Amino acid sequence: MLLKRLMLGAVLGIALAHPAVAGLLSTPSGSPHDDGYELLRQSKSRVLSAVGQDAYSTLAESTHAYDVLHYALDITVDIDGDSMFGQATITAASEEDGLDSLDLHLEGLEVDRILSGEDTLAFSRLNDTLKIDLGATYSTGDTFDVRVDYHGVPLYSTYVGGFDITSDVSFTFNEPIAARRWFPCFDEPRDKATLTMSAAVPPGYIVASNGLLIDVRSTDQYVVYTYEETHPIATYLISLAIDDYAVWSDWHFRAPGDSVEIIYYAHPWDSANAAISWDDTPNMVDFFASVFGPYPFDKYGMAEAPIFNGWGAMEHQTCTTYGHMLVNGGHSYDWIVAHELAHQWWGDWVTLLDWRHIWLNEGFATYGDALYVEHRDGDAAFRGRMQSFANTYFYEDNSIRYPIFDPPPGYLFGACEYEKGAWVLHMMRYIFDDDSLYFEAIRNYGDTYGGGVASTDDLQAEFEALYGDSLDWFFQQWIYQAGHPEFEISWTAQEVDQGPYEVEIVLHQVQEDSATSTPIFEMPAEILVIIPGEDSLVSFRFDSEYDTVYAMVDSMPTGVYLDPNTWLLHQVVSLTDVGDQTDYTSSACSIALLQNAPNPFSHSTTISYMVYGPADESRIPVTLSLYNIQGQHVRTLVDARQSHGPHTITWDGRDDRGRPVSSGVYFFRLEAPGHHHTRKIVLVH
Ligand SMILES: [Zn+2]
Repeated sequence: MLLKRLMLGAVLGIALAHPAVAGLLSTPSGSPHDDGYELLRQSKSRVLSAVGQDAYSTLAESTHAYDVLHYALDITVDIDGDSMFGQATITAASEEDGLDSLDLHLEGLEVDRILSGEDTLAFSRLNDTLKIDLGATYSTGDTFDVRVDYHGVPLYSTYVGGFDITSDVSFTFNEPIAARRWFPCFDEPRDKATLTMSAAVPPGYIVASNGLLIDVRSTDQYVVYTYEETHPIATYLISLAIDDYAVWSDWHFRAPGDSVEIIYYAHPWDSANAAISWDDTPNMVDFFASVFGPYPFDKYGMAEAPIFNGWGAMEHQTCTTYGHMLVNGGHSYDWIVAHELAHQWWGDWVTLLDWRHIWLNEGFATYGDALYVEHRDGDAAFRGRMQSFANTYFYEDNSIRYPIFDPPPGYLFGACEYEKGAWVLHMMRYIFDDDSLYFEAIRNYGDTYGGGVASTDDLQAEFEALYGDSLDWFFQQWIYQAGHPEFEISWTAQEVDQGPYEVEIVLHQVQEDSATSTPIFEMPAEILVIIPGEDSLVSFRFDSEYDTVYAMVDSMPTGVYLDPNTWLLHQVVSLTDVGDQTDYTSSACSIALLQNAPNPFSHSTTISYMVYGPADESRIPVTLSLYNIQGQHVRTLVDARQSHGPHTITWDGRDDRGRPVSSGVYFFRLEAPGHHHTRKIVLVH
């Protein structure tokens, strides 16, 4: 145990104007999973249960002794036949001496022939592997082309993806491993290549794809759209979206004389709505360019398609595919527009080395959503967004706890990767305590790895370079191990010689210890000592099961509040104050108790309630206690004076002595002077 003795009085502490503090204290916590990401996640997370645990490593690393340099895809879309004809020319360089065969991914579809120049090559297929006999032997550095002619009805399902060809809208969705359902490729993100995409569609249809449109020409039956993506692209980001689109543009001014076109492709019946729902996009590009670095590609696009039945979106490089259900003529899904746009830097420009590092994509894009809220709507909205991310992560954490790095099957798109990933980046910003340096580190990360791939170690090294010290301790506890700090907090205050008051705050870390979780967290933090009119913010560092924080203040505090500025991913499971002995005299108070969530629960559950009192500095004595079905007291969760506003507390299923209680029905009772409410809670182990 390490004691932190900080003698910070109201004079030395950062005095916060009271209205601001009241605002922070009453930030609504909302429902436990209210940030919207469940929408995207439920869609995507089914991918892995559908394709199985090992599906994204079907080719051994050793079989990839080549580097794909370029994909030239010529695709004819037979909309009436729901089918396609493809000609994929793959230019690759050998990475070994004696390379004489090539393993590619291809799932479904019929291969008609494979050519290298004029020569026809032999091939075989096993499961998703297309094995090509190169008919020659290549040495390290030799480049060669193979052309695969193929056709058929491509596989597609809503949650695994593929190529959905219909007479209405046709579109592709690949992440993580469905590119192979419509073209032969090395379908892992670490081998990025440039791309030429030619798609032939019947007259009347318009094709949106990656990179710049360089040619449109008509044949007797088709219109052929050719796009060129000169920036390396991972296979999971290659896309087509085909409809009789309404098309219009905005511009992002990257530098004098250097404008980037933002092209919108909306369903014609939906274009009036889309014109409104997407109209903040140029501001978002401007903002992200200002914090992440210049927009990295030659254009940005948004193409409407019924991806995830219209309820999702995918950050295809330079051309996000966006579900029509999110286009409503309003701005309620701006956060998805921002999220997918942020992916252009993080995911598309800097691509994850492999799927174990998915948080590098999703954590950055989710934090990008919050950063844009901070930029556009201000600090309070930003803190609220971060708190809603925390609540969503806590909700998932109730049912499964796992480290961010290398998530378990089914959680590739879990809350640890999105919301907790965003929180890791947010806490890193707090550790830096210098926004200009922090964002410089992020821009350096982009400059170093842009156009290629990066790992978690690479990001850590970029942060360490500007932080000036090792960040192993941070990455270990937040990335490679699971969980978050859960505190029992108690405090007392004593008058010293009729002068100042000494406040003693004890923080007890009570999170469950397991093989994969962080037993004791170490972080800097802030705690607010609440003194009407002269609140005092105390900075400290916790690193032990018990940490004690001391402060000297001029008046008797009425409460303490951990992390008032929302910098620390944590839960407070109990708060006990024994320091304020003032009688509460006002009868003008009331309380409201909400049902806990989740209920029934097994790991932990969150109880929310409202305290109604005078909107001044008054603190109302509140207790929240748990009883078993025999009426025996089990646990005191709150015994404190609390302010007007919403409050939440988490119960970890333990009694006052820290012992897990058995499954069954419990009652929680909220009391304030003259009022009490009781609700039922069900614990299931
Ligand atoms: Zn994303």
